[in-house]
Amino acid sequence: MSPVRSVLIAGASAGGLATAEALRRKGYTGTLTLLGAEREPPYDRPPLSKQVLSGAWEPHRARLRSPEALAALDAEFLLGDPAVGFHAHRREVTTAAGRTLTADAIVIATGVTARTLPAQRGVRGSHVVRNLDDTLALRSDLLSARRVAVIGDGVLGAEAAATARQMGLEVTLIGPQPAPMTEQLGPLVAGHLTGLHLRNGVVWHGGVLLDRLHTHGDRVTGLRLSDGTELEADVVVTAVGCVPATGWLENSGLNLDDGVVCDAYCRAAPGIWAVGDVARWQHEGLGRLVRLENRTNASEQALAVASDILGDGRPYLPVPYFWTDQFDARLQIYGIASPDARAEIVEGDPSDGRFVVRFEGPLGPESVIGWKMPKQARLQRASLVDRYTRPQQPVAS
Ligand SMILES: Cc1cc2nc3c(=O)[nH]c(=O)nc-3n(C[C@H](O)[C@H](O)[C@H](O)COP(=O)(O)OP(=O)(O)OC[C@H]3O[C@@H](n4cnc5c(N)ncnc54)[C@H](O)[C@@H]3O)c2cc1C
Repeated sequence: MSPVRSVLIAGASAGGLATAEALRRKGYTGTLTLLGAEREPPYDRPPLSKQVLSGAWEPHRARLRSPEALAALDAEFLLGDPAVGFHAHRREVTTAAGRTLTADAIVIATGVTARTLPAQRGVRGSHVVRNLDDTLALRSDLLSARRVAVIGDGVLGAEAAATARQMGLEVTLIGPQPAPMTEQLGPLVAGHLTGLHLRNGVVWHGGVLLDRLHTHGDRVTGLRLSDGTELEADVVVTAVGCVPATGWLENSGLNLDDGVVCDAYCRAAPGIWAVGDVARWQHEGLGRLVRLENRTNASEQALAVASDILGDGRPYLPVPYFWTDQFDARLQIYGIASPDARAEIVEGDPSDGRFVVRFEGPLGPESVIGWKMPKQARLQRASLVDRYTRPQQPVAS
C-alpha cells in the first residue's frame, strides 16, 4: 500500500486534472489539492485557437469537466492563487495569497507561458494565445478588425491565421521558415500546408522576422519585416513559442533546464513529479531528455505519474503525438522526425488532399504524418512503437 496520504498538484488544467482523476481511479483515497493560477475551472486549450477564437463555441464549452464531475473528484480546488515559491526538500509551496501548502506528494503541472517580443509590450491590438482571457481579448479585437498579421510560423501561428481567415479577415502569416511548420512537418508536408493557406487566401511571408511594430498612440497600425516589407495591420498575433512556467521554482533545489528535469519515471526529486508541458523527462526509448507541448502527452504522462505516486510506476515511454486543425484539414503527427529523415508517401495522394507520410531514419521509421487520413495514420503508427517503447541499451565502451 502506498504511504502517500496527501497530494498537492500545482497547475489545475489538462495535466493537473488528469493526474487527480487518475489517482482517484486507481483507488487513492487521501487528500487531493489542486492549486491554479487562473480563476477559471479547468479548461481545454486546443479549442482556444479554433472554436473559441472563431466564436463557434461559447467559452464554457472548453471546460474539461462539469461542476458535478469536479465535485465528485473530492478534491480541494484553490483557484486564482498562483504558486510563487517552492522548497523541494520540505515539499512546501507558497502562494500569492500567502498560503503555505505541503503534501506527501507534489505534482508540478504549471505548463508553459507564451513568449512575447519586446516590441509588442504595452501595445494595444497585439496579442498572444495561451489562455482563455488571451483568446477572448483577441477575438474581441478581431471582430472589429480588417487586417491581421500573425507573427510565428509554428502550429499556433498557423492555426490562428487559419481561424482569423475563416472569420473573414485579411491575414498575413509571417515567420523565419521557408514554409509554416517546416520544423514539425518537414518540407514536403509543410509545402502542402502552405498551399492550403494560400488557397484559402492567407498571405504567407516566409524567411523573415519582425523588425518593428508601428503604432498610433499605443495602438498597433502596422509592422515592418526584416526584409523591409511594410504591412498595415489592425491586430497582430504573436505565436513565437513558449517558456516553461518554472519561475516559481527558482532556487527551490530542483533541476530546471528548459522545464523541470525529471528521471524516466517523471520524478523531479523524492516525492516530487512533473507532468505535461512543463516536464522534461528522460525518455528511455529515445535515450534523451524530452519535453512535449501537446494535449495527449498531458493526459498520458498524468497516468504514468499517478501510477508512480501510488507505488506502481514504470518508465514513461510514449510515442509522441499531436494533431492540428487548419481550414478543412486535420493533421496527425506521430513521433519526432530527425531533420535528415527521408519522407515517403505510404498512403493516399497529396493531389487528392488525403495522404500519409512516413519518415525513415537510419534506424527505421521515426515519424508518421496523416493528412485527413486518421485511420490510415493510426495504422502506420504501429511501425513506430518499437522505436519509442524499447529502452535504449547503454552503448558498451
Ligand atoms: C491555443 C492552444 C491550442 C492548442 N492546440 C493543440 C492541438 O490542437 N493539439 C495538441 O495536441 N495540443 C494543442 N495545444 C497544447 C495543449 O493544450 C497543451 O499541451 C496542454 O494544455 C498541456 O497541459 P498542461 O496541463 O501541461 O499545461 P496547461 O494546459 O498550460 O496548464 C497549466 C496550468 O497551470 C497554471 N499555472 C501556471 N503557473 C502557475 C503557478 N505558478 N501556480 C499555479 N498554477 C499555475 C496555468 O494557469 C494553467 O492553468 C494547444 C495549446 C494552446 C495554448
